[in-house]
Parts: sequence; structure tokens; C-alpha cells
Amino acid sequence: MTIAKPIVRVIGTGGSIAGVGPDRMDFILYPEIGEHITIQQSLDRVPEIQDIAEVRSEDLVSVGSTAIGAAEWLGLTRRINQIFREEPEVAGVVITHGTATLEETSYFLHLTVKSPKPVVITGAMRPPTALSTDADLNLSDAVRTAACPDAAGLGVLTVLNNEIQSGRDVTKASTFRVETFRPNELGFLGYADSDGKVVFYRAPLRRHTVDTTMT
Ligand code: ASP
Repeated sequence: MTIAKPIVRVIGTGGSIAGVGPDRMDFILYPEIGEHITIQQSLDRVPEIQDIAEVRSEDLVSVGSTAIGAAEWLGLTRRINQIFREEPEVAGVVITHGTATLEETSYFLHLTVKSPKPVVITGAMRPPTALSTDADLNLSDAVRTAACPDAAGLGVLTVLNNEIQSGRDVTKASTFRVETFRPNELGFLGYADSDGKVVFYRAPLRRHTVDTTMT
């Protein structure tokens, strides 16, 4: 008997997680080149993701995240709400995003997505062309988290560096470190851990997603 895998939709928007540098030692110049791989090319780098979920992918935009603003936020929230409305079989949604404005997009979606199903935003501090990139593992961890039933009802989550955080509280703290996303004094919600488990230790109590007045 084959057990059906959870269906996860992955939406690409660009950023370092899709960045193309001139060589493996380039960690900073690639945004100026401005080239991005597609979300399907990102997924193809990690065939193991197919063991976690059945993934359906699409690119919404392909930009550095300083180019993401109100129009893209509305496009994302409309698309995510449409997916949950029209594809009830979808377990969760992942968004790949540049790190510069990842916290702003996360907070906006935390207030405007109208579903309790998991929505997970991830990015990377080192592009896929760089030595020791975090792009592949962050994408894999994000899909694992979006496919995890325990991630439902927590609002929009960010997953980078194994750390699961609330889209409401997360903030970027460093230009270079892979552990740049911090919740400050509020704490991580959990981990997409190295043993393959997705574990949660706490839940956000402020109103989000289906409980906000935003539509
Ligand atoms: N700063 C770039 C952006 O936000 C690259 C990145 O950090 O992902 O798109």
C-alpha cells in the first residue's frame, strides 16, 4: 500500500535562495548580477524533497526582496488564499523570499492569509552557487514544516537555519550570519530539526490569519 504524501505548494519570489553568483566564493556580489534560478530549479537541486511531499511549484516574481512591496504582498496573499480555497487537498504553502524584507512579508501574510493551514516563508543567506549554501536545507526544512499537521493554526511561520519562528515577531539581525533571523525576547516556536522531526514548543497568542479583521 502506498501512503499518499501531503501536497505542498511552493511559490518562488527570488532572493538569495535563488541567487546566481559568479563563483563559489562569492557571498555578496550576486545580488548585483541579479540573476535568479526558478523555483523548480531550486526544487530540482533537492530531489529528497519528493520523499517529504508532493510539491507543486510556481514563480510569482523573481526579484531581490527590496523590490517587494504592497503589490507583491497583495499578490501573494490573494494567491495563497486562492490555493486554499480552490485546492482543498493542499496541506500547506511555502514561499521562498529574499531576506531583506522577509520579515515584512511574513507579518503582512500573518495578518491576511485566511486559512489555518501552514504557510512557511524561507530564504537563504548564501546563494545556491556559494560554498556551504543554506538554500537547499532551508527549502527542504520549509517543505517539511508546511507538510507537518502540528504547524497548522500557528499563523505564518518562517523557517531558516532549522529555526521556526512566528511571522509576527521575527526580525533580521545580521547581514552575513546564517542565524540572522531572531525572535528577540519572544523565543523560537520550534525547530525543523536535524533528526527529521518538526517540533514545536510554544504558540503565538496574538490574533492572526483567520482571526484578524483583515480580508
Ligand atoms: N538581500 C537580497 C534580497 O533580500 C538577497 C537576500 O538576502 O535574500 O533579496
